[in-house]
Amino acid sequence: RQGAAQSFLTRPAVTKAGTAVRVQVNIANPSDVDGIDISTCDGVGLMRTEFLFGKTLPDEETQYHAYRKVLEWAGDKPVTIRTVDAGGDKPLAGFTVEETNPFLGLRGIRLSLKRRDIFRVQIRALLRAAIHGNLKVMFPMIATPEEYSQAAALFAEEQAGLAARGVAHTMPPLGIMVEVPSVAIAPEAFANVAFFSIGSNDLTQYVMAAARDNAAVTYLNSVRHPAVLRLMEAVVRFGRETEIPVSLCGDAGGDPAAIPALLETGLRDLSVAPAQLAMAKAAIAEVPV
Ligand code: PEP
Ligand code: MG
Repeated sequence: RQGAAQSFLTRPAVTKAGTAVRVQVNIANPSDVDGIDISTCDGVGLMRTEFLFGKTLPDEETQYHAYRKVLEWAGDKPVTIRTVDAGGDKPLAGFTVEETNPFLGLRGIRLSLKRRDIFRVQIRALLRAAIHGNLKVMFPMIATPEEYSQAAALFAEEQAGLAARGVAHTMPPLGIMVEVPSVAIAPEAFANVAFFSIGSNDLTQYVMAAARDNAAVTYLNSVRHPAVLRLMEAVVRFGRETEIPVSLCGDAGGDPAAIPALLETGLRDLSVAPAQLAMAKAAIAEVPV
């Protein structure tokens, strides 16, 4: 299948009915882009930043250069960088805390808002890197509008600080991951965000109460469960009504078995692992929507 799919890599993604679908890539490391031809994708839908925080906490310069590299590679195309999503399945030494239930604990934006000293460093690096391309920033694990406003307020504060010091920077659009059910159930509380990106890995595990890292419950962990699809559909509908863009960056976006159901929810913007790019486009071409 991969061999036959390869011919789709260099073509834009369109369904059988001729509907265009945006396909971006997910990366976890700036060097990931070295092997990707930017003309084969619509940008970076998710750049995870946990890698940077892996060993020791990265300083502002290290982060700035990592983000700038990807932005310059992408040119005019968007690069969506996610603020650090530590905790849960991504424990980081010296940063995350010991918890009995890490998936329901201090992870993602919750931890960043608690450790503002660390968050502010990342924010400054992002604001400075933003002048080098088409940056969008998103927050992981948002559950309430207050978390979004607090994170956005920190961006505004750091922006003012950079401006006062005469440091070149610009404010990127700020969006959120939709991976906690509270957001998908009541998206109208988030009408002020710049965009939504559905994190189907976590959304599925939280809707089905089935840990994403537990093989014993993988039978429950399906993005194609009607309850999960219905929530996604509601978010897509809300996005249409409000003109807030909605995309999906969970692993399901690159899964040929899930793609037909995802497009049926109305989604037209997927972000997939680079290795899945050709396969995803090939699968999209077979969907009748
Ligand atoms: C997700 O939850 O679907 C997602 C894209 O984020 P991560 O897998 O990094 O938690
Ligand atoms: Mg997630």
